[in-house]
Amino acid sequence: MTAAAKVVIVGSGIVGASTALACQDLGAEVTVMDQGPLGGLASANSFGWINASFAETQAYFDLRNAAIEFFRTLGQRLELQAHVSWPGTLWWEDVGQDFDAQFASLTARGYGAQRLDHDEIAALEPNLRDCPAHALFTPVEGAAQAQSVAQSLLAHVARRGGRLCPEQAVKSLRPSFGGGHIVQTSAGDLQCDFVILATGAAACRGLGGVGWTLPMANKRGMIVQTRPVQTRIHHILMTPDVHFRQNPDGSLVAGEIFSGDLDQLEDAPALADTVIARIRQKLRGQLDVQPAQVKLGERPVPMDGLPVVGAVPGVPGVFVAVMHSGVTLGPLIGQLLAKEILQGRSSPLMSSFRASRFAGA
Ligand SMILES: Cc1cc2nc3c(=O)[nH]c(=O)nc-3n(C[C@H](O)[C@H](O)[C@H](O)COP(=O)(O)OP(=O)(O)OC[C@H]3O[C@@H](n4cnc5c(N)ncnc54)[C@H](O)[C@@H]3O)c2cc1C
Repeated sequence: MTAAAKVVIVGSGIVGASTALACQDLGAEVTVMDQGPLGGLASANSFGWINASFAETQAYFDLRNAAIEFFRTLGQRLELQAHVSWPGTLWWEDVGQDFDAQFASLTARGYGAQRLDHDEIAALEPNLRDCPAHALFTPVEGAAQAQSVAQSLLAHVARRGGRLCPEQAVKSLRPSFGGGHIVQTSAGDLQCDFVILATGAAACRGLGGVGWTLPMANKRGMIVQTRPVQTRIHHILMTPDVHFRQNPDGSLVAGEIFSGDLDQLEDAPALADTVIARIRQKLRGQLDVQPAQVKLGERPVPMDGLPVVGAVPGVPGVFVAVMHSGVTLGPLIGQLLAKEILQGRSSPLMSSFRASRFAGA
């Protein structure tokens, strides 16, 4: 019997947790390190929309589309329904030609988008005050509380013997004489065969001994979570001035300009008030919408906006998985990367997203 491969995953957000689970599924002995609490940073501050509605290239659409299906299957397998729901999205951020172009693009890709008129929207969302003339309905989409999903996956990993190490920073890597790597952490050294960097926005800082950093253009974003409200909304709502959705406990999760970059100096409490006011305006009745939490997070965004997954160039045995839309993509990417590392099976879905594209950057 051959010994199980030893894999150290650096980062315990949704990407690292998914990768750890997938490596363990394939028989590896996994250790997950995080310099902070388990569950990730961006993952704790995310809107959590699981979608393939926006993808600049066909390859990126194919990856996102496959990721939705994979997330559903994982959710059923691990009974994640407390943290993941699949209500579909109503989208009307744009009007006119831009709206039509989005509909045409999704239709051409076979995404199953439906163009709804005012009355159809009102029937789906009776608590919406001023329904738009048109919206796109994408029923396949969902939303996740990404930090809770990551923590659930990690709990599963731990139950099967995986090692979880919160509050332990990975400082550097160096080759081990017997093969593999020595991982130097704030709590001592570890020996392993493979290292996977799922460090999110911190990927721009690199890691000692790796001699490689990922060019990143991280962006700050704000999410407001409210106290539970009685008024129900039934879909993820993407409107021109606010996007919001409802958790099973009735709390609303809302964001400002989608994928925008929040100015460092922007007044977060004032912006949160604006977001709340916009929600109040959208819903019927005298709504008591109170913010429970205003979260400021950093979106991990590789320089060209696309995911980076696979071998770190020139460093055998070290791999990377860093991306925006990591909530959508994390579970599938984890699975594909685990197969590549442990079984030597590379998926064509990942071929456009290799770290080598930044060589010389
Ligand atoms: C405001 C906002 C809204 C978003 N909305 C969406 C959305 O609607 N849909 C979507 O799909 N995505 C969305 N995203 C993006 C998504 O949240 C991220 O892509 C995803 O959470 C990344 O997960 P991760 O595991 O890679 O990173 P993280 O969750 O950030 O986890 C990385 C972890 O690595 C740890 N780490 C870093 N360096 C080290 C080290 N040296 N040693 C040990 N640990 C280390 C960190 O402590 C951290 O816990 C949003 C992000 C933000 C901020």
